[in-house]
Amino acid sequence: MVKQSRNTKQKELIKNELDSINTFFSAEELHSRVKKKDETIGIATIYRYINELKGKGEVFSYVCDRRNIYSKGQKSHCHFMCEKTGKIIHFEINNLDFLKNKIPGSIKSFQLEVKGICRECQE
Ligand SMILES: [Zn+2]
Ligand SMILES: [Zn+2]
Repeated sequence: MVKQSRNTKQKELIKNELDSINTFFSAEELHSRVKKKDETIGIATIYRYINELKGKGEVFSYVCDRRNIYSKGQKSHCHFMCEKTGKIIHFEINNLDFLKNKIPGSIKSFQLEVKGICRECQE
């Protein structure tokens, strides 16, 4: 049996955690999940791994509230920001047909920010 290097084992652990995430995530969120399984994995290792996946086109990055967040597919990244509290709520748009005629090309991913008053604040 080939003994796996520490590095490979750590990557496998991170990958397993990543597989269970189906939404946007930050490096910190991924790190806190991974840390529960192996305390020795540092945030730098997480960043290195994410960048590696980004290079391979397996992970995509977006800017969310001035932070970088990531997703495993090319998704739409849509914000609804409550002007009263500054809270950001994510929502998904799967169909961009209403924009089709306005955009001079084919759409692969997009980022959208909508502002208003959230339901909670309206009550
Ligand atoms: Zn966001
Ligand atoms: Zn609100």
